[in-house]
Amino acid sequence: MAEHIDQPWLHRPQLQALLALLNDGEGEAKIAGGAVRNSLLDQPIADVDVATTLVPSEVVERLKSAGHKSVPTGIDHGTVTAIIDGDAYEVTTLRADVETDGRHATVVFGTDWEADARRRDLTMNALYLDADGTVFDPLGGMQDVLAARVVFIDDATQRIREDYLRILRFFRFFAWYGKFRPDADGLRACAREKDGLEGLSAERVWQELSKMLAAPDPVRAVLWMRQTGVLSKILPESENWGIDGIHPLIETEKERKWEPDAVLRLMAILPPMEERVASATERLKLPNSVRDRLLAWAQLELPAAKTKQEAFARFLYRTNNDQAVTDRLRLAIATSDADAKKRRRQLKWLKRWQRPILPVRGADLIAAGMEPGPAISERLSKMEERWIDSDFALSSEELLTGI
Ligand code: ATP
Ligand code: MG
Repeated sequence: MAEHIDQPWLHRPQLQALLALLNDGEGEAKIAGGAVRNSLLDQPIADVDVATTLVPSEVVERLKSAGHKSVPTGIDHGTVTAIIDGDAYEVTTLRADVETDGRHATVVFGTDWEADARRRDLTMNALYLDADGTVFDPLGGMQDVLAARVVFIDDATQRIREDYLRILRFFRFFAWYGKFRPDADGLRACAREKDGLEGLSAERVWQELSKMLAAPDPVRAVLWMRQTGVLSKILPESENWGIDGIHPLIETEKERKWEPDAVLRLMAILPPMEERVASATERLKLPNSVRDRLLAWAQLELPAAKTKQEAFARFLYRTNNDQAVTDRLRLAIATSDADAKKRRRQLKWLKRWQRPILPVRGADLIAAGMEPGPAISERLSKMEERWIDSDFALSSEELLTGI
């Protein structure tokens, strides 16, 4: 079994410089978490997190004396972001949690690598890597990662009670790295402890939910979330609607080579009704861009599948929201076999479509003799309507005649 990792990212001079700095004299540092896990799977990594036995003030001090900047990102939790020649690395001091209320842990710093591993969530996330690529695997996470087993460290219920977000992390990591059925103990514990999700901040919930939905194929994770009642806890709007839309969407994404899109996948499990969508966006405190996109999608109605190109162009112009039309079309393509071909054609029109610009402006009306004032914009709107009805053919001369 591989106990050595050799990946281009490990050779980055900035990372090597950071590790050398922290491993000097008293002090040890290793890469921790996702970068190790993903490298064992030969998958791309998101970011490189570093764990160290040095306390945060010492980390800051060493960076400073070597001429590097640091940002006290989460200094209370022992996290400092090291900035080295344009690279950013989160450096976190080993921890041993003493107290927890299911959301916040009181943190004491430690120097014991195995204790640090035990306070993480899943065995596959309790992996470390030395600067030379040697894997340190105190809890057997490597076997689990290679066997696609997503399992909590030690007792699942206890892990969850320390931080209920771990329920969602269990499903997120299952979506990305799991195979077969989820671990039975973990699943049971998630189902039993799901009420604890109510105490989590909306931001943390969305962060995990969106990462879960962004997995290459989150269908089974979503099904298990529904099965355990976890989905209804965080997304009750999906309950009487069904989540059956997500499976055909994933299939269609693969077939049509659409990039995985967490928000589109969320749409596939939400009813396209304004109030329900509004209630979900408020409860989950979704970022404005996501909220706006969901609401526009819920409000929009597509014209019939048989709509001709000219009428469709008029619809696009009036709607003036290509994203909402794309979302509606993609979901329609995924879910309605009968119309899929016509909807695909409309999507193609949309891609090639360029929003035409009304060839008349207020200044033209004034030049033609109209008094400046509110009548101008009224007149412009009427002209715009005539122009749209002409399929954007009328020229400025034609629009301005008879003023
Ligand atoms: P990604 O590739 O998405 O960044 P990651 O494994 O690095 O995945 P992060 O959320 O960045 O995940 O967390 C980094 C590491 O910190 C995890 O691998 C895990 O060991 C630990 N961790 C993060 N959040 C928790 C949590 N809520 N409970 C326990 N351990 C956690
Ligand atoms: Mg990470």
